[in-house]
Amino acid sequence: MRQSTLFVPTLKESPADAEIASHRLLVRGGFLRRVASGIYNFLPLGVRVIHKIEGIIREEMNRAGAQEALFPILQPRELWEESGRWSQYGEEMMRLKDRSGRDFGLGPTHEEIVTELVRNNISSYRDLPLNLYQIGPKFRDEIRPRFGLMRGREFLMKDGYSFDRDEESMLKSYQEMFDAYGRIFSRCGCVWRAVEADTGLIGGDVSHEFMVPAEVGEAWIAYCDRCDYAANLERAEYEREPVERAEMIPLKKVHTPGRKTIEEVSSFLQVAPERLIKCLMYLVEDEPKALLIPGDREANEAKLGKIFSTDEFRMFNQEDWLRFPRFTQGFVGPVGLDQVEVLADWGIKGARGMVCGANQHDYHLVNVCEGRDYEVSRYVDATSAKEGDRCPRCHEGKLHVEAGIEVGQVFQLKTKYSLPLKAFYNDEEGESRPFYMGTYGIGVSRLMAAIVEQNHDERGIIWPASVSPAQLHILPLDWNQEVIRSVAEELYREALERGLEVLLDDRDERAGVKFADADLIGIPLRAVIGKSYLDRGELELQRRTGEKFFTDRMGIIEEAEKLKTLQVRGFPEGINTK
Ligand code: ATP
Ligand code: MG
Repeated sequence: MRQSTLFVPTLKESPADAEIASHRLLVRGGFLRRVASGIYNFLPLGVRVIHKIEGIIREEMNRAGAQEALFPILQPRELWEESGRWSQYGEEMMRLKDRSGRDFGLGPTHEEIVTELVRNNISSYRDLPLNLYQIGPKFRDEIRPRFGLMRGREFLMKDGYSFDRDEESMLKSYQEMFDAYGRIFSRCGCVWRAVEADTGLIGGDVSHEFMVPAEVGEAWIAYCDRCDYAANLERAEYEREPVERAEMIPLKKVHTPGRKTIEEVSSFLQVAPERLIKCLMYLVEDEPKALLIPGDREANEAKLGKIFSTDEFRMFNQEDWLRFPRFTQGFVGPVGLDQVEVLADWGIKGARGMVCGANQHDYHLVNVCEGRDYEVSRYVDATSAKEGDRCPRCHEGKLHVEAGIEVGQVFQLKTKYSLPLKAFYNDEEGESRPFYMGTYGIGVSRLMAAIVEQNHDERGIIWPASVSPAQLHILPLDWNQEVIRSVAEELYREALERGLEVLLDDRDERAGVKFADADLIGIPLRAVIGKSYLDRGELELQRRTGEKFFTDRMGIIEEAEKLKTLQVRGFPEGINTK
């Protein structure tokens, strides 16, 4: 590739909407351009990186026995009605009509399409297991598309679907995909962690997400420092510390004028936040419910969805407080709270000597004891784990909380789609049985951004060799000097002949401009041809990570070839494998 003709429009300034490093650097480095919110053009260097990532994915998928196919983006409504997801998916699904008024959706995921394909074409246990995958665009009308490739409305995904005869065989397919995912992310140069995950709109029982730890990640992960427990904060459990069994002393009402929040009450009454009972009011399918949690905890929305068995709930808004005046906003508490179901987090089970709202404006109660003063209808796990909590698995380790980018997710679906879509096969006895399915996704374009988040400095991207758009960047510092130009051309030709991918900066630009662009673009190896060549006939080899040394043409070719073999052999394993 000759830089003088390559379409790589680098920028000195960051685009105004770019809040995170990967977004800034991919745009500035000439890999990416925005079309509309959450929609991007990939420029030639960007596509090369995408192809590298896809290449690694294909190798590992094929090695694990999956077969590549290609499914349509445009999907008929009827199939989505069969699974019940035409209405469930809501506004996130992009929809359109054809000329005769029939409804279609742009695929946000492809379970329906693939299940139908298999139900119509596989009828015998002899043809199982079967694992199909594709790499292609997905459409989701995200509420908040942002961070460049991280959360797009059109993005690239590798999605795969396994079909097995029973649960045991499904678990085997799941494990094979799990292991392949680990190899993929390691080979892409990422440090990653697999965590237990919620199943969301895809459904099923068991699921893991693959997270790339990064400050800008939108997911939160809790992991144990002693055992291998790791989970998305949406579902991470934690061990509750035993509650203090204070003396049962008489309940007392105290005047707390204008003190509504935990912080206000805690500092006014001089009691620690964990001695306060936070009483949260929810409207669940149009019915008020109270939830008690320790004052120093936050309610966990994802867990609440499961507790209430519906997505149709919200914390009381202003309208709800007006509609149900029997609840005193800012001063609700469980004592005397009639005609409403009271749920409580395990963290306050058996609590005594607590403080809570008195259900009277400007008053709180102190010395509150469960059982004597109020009853709870159901104890639940309703709060989020925090840094330093005790591990729910080994009970000894401490949980740490970190931000991560979800680059992939695997799901055990069992018969979640095969039953509603009536996808059956015949076993040895000729009996008809539903397929046991698994589904497996990787955000290919998001992964590209995640790689940059983990591999950059203030000057630009530092591509891991396995996904770099080229192995070698040749920088002849003065293109007008015949000697320099001819040695650069020679090196370029030789590298190409050996099958290397090379970018030659044949522009008539100042050295400073060439270095700045090279740093931004981030090819790991750079051959600099300048003064040392004119003086002593030496070429300088520079790594994007900083190391420099003098060598000759063969030295440079050999180093670049080493990077090429790395692409095939891959990187060591990531942090955690289960
Ligand atoms: P998120 O929780 O981040 O919205 P998801 O759990 O809805 O993602 P999945 O249905 O699991 O996403 O899709 C598989 C993979 O596709 C995800 O692990 C992620 O890497 C990627 N992905 C999902 N949504 C987007 C998006 N809007 N833009 C880019 N990549 C995405
Ligand atoms: Mg997911």
